Amino acid sequence: MGLTEGHQAKTVWENPAEIVRSLHPENPVMVFAPTVLQDRARAFLAGFPGLVTYAVKSNPDEAVIQNLVQAGIRGFDVASPFEIDLIGRLAPTAARHYHNPVRSRAEIAHAVGAGIKAWSVDSRTELDKLFEQVPPENCEISPRFKLPVLGAAYDFGSKFGATPELAADLLRAVNDRGYIASLTFHPGTQCTDPHAWEQYIRTAREIADMAGVHPRRLNVGGGFPSWRVHGVEPDLPAIFDLIGRTTAEAFGANAPELVCEPGRGLCADAFAIITRVKAVRDGTSVFLNDGVYGGMNELPVIGNLDRLEVLTPEGKLRGENSHGRVVFGPTCDSVDRLPGEISLPDNIQEGDYVVFHGAGAYSVVTNTRFNGFGELRQLTVMGFD
Ligand SMILES: *Cc1c(COP(=O)(O)O)cnc(C)c1O
Repeated sequence: MGLTEGHQAKTVWENPAEIVRSLHPENPVMVFAPTVLQDRARAFLAGFPGLVTYAVKSNPDEAVIQNLVQAGIRGFDVASPFEIDLIGRLAPTAARHYHNPVRSRAEIAHAVGAGIKAWSVDSRTELDKLFEQVPPENCEISPRFKLPVLGAAYDFGSKFGATPELAADLLRAVNDRGYIASLTFHPGTQCTDPHAWEQYIRTAREIADMAGVHPRRLNVGGGFPSWRVHGVEPDLPAIFDLIGRTTAEAFGANAPELVCEPGRGLCADAFAIITRVKAVRDGTSVFLNDGVYGGMNELPVIGNLDRLEVLTPEGKLRGENSHGRVVFGPTCDSVDRLPGEISLPDNIQEGDYVVFHGAGAYSVVTNTRFNGFGELRQLTVMGFD
C-alpha cells in the first residue's frame, strides 16, 4: 500500500482525527486499521489452545478476510453459500466450517459441491437432511448444544442449540453413520464472563458420556468480547487459559482438539465509526448522521459503545466535562435512537464529530440505505491514536 502525500489521493491516514481535519466528512466513515486487526489475529493464534477460525458474518469485508489470512488465520465459520464462495475465492486452502445449523436442501447441495467437510446441527430433522445429501468420508458433523445462559450480552440460545440430551442422541447418530463426531456451542455474543465457557465445556464432557462417544473436536464458539466500555478492556488471555484448563480437567489425557470461531473478538476493535453531529436540538438531544439503521444497527440489542471521543471539525478533542444525552440517528423513524443516554461533552456542537471505537462487528454488513441515509465510506488508518 503506497502512502501518497496530498489529501484526496491518500490511501492510508494517520488516525480518525486526521480524516476529520482534512476531509470534514459529511457522511459517516468506517475507519479500518489493518495493523490492529492483524495484531488481534496474532494474539488469538498465539493464545488460543487450538484452531482459530473467523466467523465471516461479523464483517465479511474482503480487506478484513485478506488481512486475517495474512496474519495466519486458516479457518472460517461460514453460514451461507455466499460466504462459502467468498472464502473459497479469497482463502482457497482454508478450512470452511458450515456452522449455520439450519439449511435448505439447495444450500446443502451447494456446500457439498464446494467441498465443505464440517457441519453443525441442532435437530434430528436437519441431521437427516445431512445424512441424505452429505457423504461421510472425512466429514465432520458437530451437534450444537445450549445451556440457559450465562454471561453474554445477547443469547443466541433462543434460536439455536439442542438440549444436552438431544445433543447426545445426535452425537451418537453421527458416529454410528461413520461421520467424524464433534461437538460445538456458542456462549452468546460479547460474553464477558469466562465461566460461561467453563460450564459449556463441562457439559460437553457430560454429553460425550451420555452418548458413549468421544468427540474428535470441541468448538467453543465465538462470543469473545471486544472493547466496548471505556476503561474496561476484555482479558482474552484469561479466557483462553480457562478454556484450555477446563478442557484438560474435564476430558483428561484424551481431550478433544479445540476450535474457536470468533467474529466480534477478532474484527470489532479494528474499526471506528466517525459520525457527525447534525444538530444539538435546543441544547438537549443530539442528532447524528448515522444510527441504528446504519453502522450502529446492533446497539439497541448489545448496548451502547461508550468508548467514544468527540472531535471539533479541526480534529481537536472536546472538553472533559460531560453529561448524558439522548442520541438519535438521521432517519425519520423513532426507533432510530441509541439506547438510554450517552455521556457527551457539555460543549458538543453542531458540526462536531463523534468517533465510536470498537465498531467493526455487525455494522458494515448490517448497514442499510433506509430513508436515503447509510452512505458509509470506508477509509484505512495506521491506528486510532
Ligand atoms: C455469529 C457466530 C459466531 C461469531 O460470534 P461472535 O459473538 O461475533 O464471536 C460464531 N459461530 C457461529 C456459529 C455464529 O453463528
